[in-house]
Amino acid sequence: MRFLVTGGAGFLGAPLANYLVKQGHSVRVLDDLSAGDAARLDPAVNFTRGDVEDKPKVWRLLNKIDCVYHLAARVTVPESVLYPKEYNRTNVSGTVAIMEAMRDAGIKRVVLASSGAVYGEQGVPLVHESLLPHPDSPYAASKLAAESYVRTIGEIWNIETVALRIFNAYGPGQPIPPTYPPVIPQFLRQILQKGSVIIYGEGQQTRDFIYVDDVVQALAAAATAEGINRQVINIGTGTGTSIRQLISILEHVTGKEAQTIVNPGGAAGVSALVADTKKARELLGFEAKIALAEGLTRLKSLDPQFS
Ligand code: NAD
Repeated sequence: MRFLVTGGAGFLGAPLANYLVKQGHSVRVLDDLSAGDAARLDPAVNFTRGDVEDKPKVWRLLNKIDCVYHLAARVTVPESVLYPKEYNRTNVSGTVAIMEAMRDAGIKRVVLASSGAVYGEQGVPLVHESLLPHPDSPYAASKLAAESYVRTIGEIWNIETVALRIFNAYGPGQPIPPTYPPVIPQFLRQILQKGSVIIYGEGQQTRDFIYVDDVVQALAAAATAEGINRQVINIGTGTGTSIRQLISILEHVTGKEAQTIVNPGGAAGVSALVADTKKARELLGFEAKIALAEGLTRLKSLDPQFS
């Protein structure tokens, strides 16, 4: 098949693009490199630097494409609180621009990388796709709006659409920006360097951490699965891990004791965000295979940031 992956030089997009070319597909990547790195890509991937709103470029790249993966986005929740307009521009307008171009180019299918963040606080141990989303950040709101635009424009113009609500992905290549770093690479680095790990709230909040290779498998399945048109599907492991449990697994994986600092008033986020994975099993035949301890061991050995 011929694929276009927007945001394909990013943490999730690059392993997806690399996986697809290894499977013998033809893959184009469009990424403005605002956060991505083209050096992550297999030389067989056809890379173009550019913005998803650059119409002539997008039109050219869509020529003869069978399926688009739309991953290009701004992805940091706290940053979105400071810059909601920017998040709206990239994540919402950027998505509308891609859908409009797909309509004009006659593209048949799009897979949107959405987020478990759209659920917000639900007060249940597992979140099912039938729950009413309750976004609690501009990032989450932008992903929900993107889902809605993709579904609506797809319906009008007969483009097959599916939105995968990815939970907390981790793995090699995940950047650790100085501001708002994701919890896993941040904690792993702190523990390895004997720094302090800061726990916000009680540390009992649970998350669903999914290894990047599992996410790639789910995305790959969504390109060809039958009967998924207009669906939203959770992509997680179905296992909740509290922040304190995460620290103890990291201690085990690194063989080092974590120095913890508790900030009870800090922004701990929602109390639980764990995927109900039934729909992914039924519609995509997808089940995450890599348990957290195994994924963290791979992360530590494969990512040069931790050697
Ligand atoms: P990332 O920041 O590594 O990837 C996003 C990529 O999009 C970057 O390479 C960036 O340069 C590119 N980009 C940003 N704006 C662009 C624009 N206007 N035009 C072209 N390219 C642009 O983040 P990621 O973690 O790989 O996330 C990929 C997708 O998956 C995003 O849509 C994100 O919302 C979604 N997602 C990620 C996670 C996760 O845990 N990593 C969880 C849920 C959903």
